[in-house]
Formats: sequence, structure tokens, C-alpha cells
Amino acid sequence: MRIVRFASSKYQAQYGWVHEDDLGVIEGDIFGEFRRLETEIQLEKARLLAPVLPGKIICVARNYIEHARERNVEVPETPMIFLKPPSAVIAHEDAIQIPPQSARVEHEAELAIIIGKAGRWIDTEKARRYIYGYTIANDVTARDLQLNESQWTRAKGFDTFCPLGPWIETELDVTDLLITCRVNGELRQMASTKEMIFPVTQLVTFISNIMTLYPGDVILTGTPAGVGPLEKGDNVEITIEGIGSLSNMVK
Ligand code: MG
Repeated sequence: MRIVRFASSKYQAQYGWVHEDDLGVIEGDIFGEFRRLETEIQLEKARLLAPVLPGKIICVARNYIEHARERNVEVPETPMIFLKPPSAVIAHEDAIQIPPQSARVEHEAELAIIIGKAGRWIDTEKARRYIYGYTIANDVTARDLQLNESQWTRAKGFDTFCPLGPWIETELDVTDLLITCRVNGELRQMASTKEMIFPVTQLVTFISNIMTLYPGDVILTGTPAGVGPLEKGDNVEITIEGIGSLSNMVK
């Protein structure tokens, strides 16, 4: 099932489900009990909002060997993680704002896991039960700041630095999905999720051994090679097979 959060003339911020080109309202809690009402709105007439308002966003660094190589850094033996603040989240078609503190802002196309139920010390064999679905993320990074600072909170944490969307896909086998990133139509990144060093289930286990994961928490699973700069006026579009495309302008 494809789940969206949307706004329209009738709704301010509402969960819905997508059927072909239409959407219907979801009543209740998407992570608990809910019911799907009949489709009533054309998808193109709704404004899509970020599909979740995460309590926390955990990001995995260097989860693709080729990206570690292009950055000239070691391939980690255990997952390397950092946090992005929830205030960085924007939706599909919202603008990424280049902050005045950075002269080099880059895109990072990533598969995002949406957690569906609370868990700690989750076994890898049971990890899929805690995954609600998947969406697309752009781990926007002020690369010049990241290179100069050992803590990445500033480089990764600016407002608008976490585009998420366009929706959550709840039924998806993510073992071999093509991820591409295009800037103004030019191909920058292309890889398969099968190239991840640590697969999604292992990431859920690793992170849940540190902190309790809650419904709506988001895990960014790392970016493949080909990261590059964004300039004002650019359009960055990330596509993941089986999910769709996340598109954002740069301001
Ligand atoms: Mg990243």
C-alpha cells in the first residue's frame, strides 16, 4: 500500500492511501488501527506533505563501498551512524535552501526506512516486523562544513536538509532496487540497494541495540557514489524503483 500525508482544499494535514491516480482518506492511526475510506481526490490536486513527522532520523554513513572510495575514507566494520534533526524534514516539491554558512551543498540519494512499531534489541530475523515501509530521502550535506568538523550535526542539520517522500510504500522487497539521482536531468548517482554493506535488517538491529526505535522514526540507509554539488535553481530528482520519485528545487 502507498501511504501519503497530504493537504487539499478540504484537509489541512491528512493521511491517505493512493490507488492509481486517486487518493482516499485514512481514518485512525496509520501505525495502529485505521480504516481506508473510498478514494475521493485526484492525487495531482493534493499537495503532498512529508510522509512522516519523525521523532528521530538516524543516518548511516558510508554504507556503499564506492561512496567511501570517492570520499577517500575507510569502509567501516560496523555501521557508522549520526542524527539529523526532525526540523530538517521537507516534503516532495518543497525547496532545499542553501544556507549562507556553506559554499558547497551536496545531494545524497538514499533509501529511507520508516519504523512501524517500538522496539529495542531487535533480532535481525525479526527486524522486518518493525519496518513499516520505505520512502526516498535526500541526505543534503554542507560538504565544506562536514570536511572541517568532526561532528556532522551542523553540516547535516540545516533546515530543509532532509527531503522525504513522496509517500511510504509498505510492500516492497528492498534487496535489489535501483536508486538514481538526477540534477537538472543529468544523471549523478546510480546504484542498486544490493550494494549496501549493511542491509536494512542489520541496520535496524544495530540501531535498536543503542536506542529504542519508535513508530515514525526514520533510518537513512546511506548514499551510493556520485554525490555532487547543488546550486540555486537546480532541480534534484531521486528515483527508487518500486517507490517513485522525490523532486526538490534548490533556493
Ligand atoms: Mg548520507
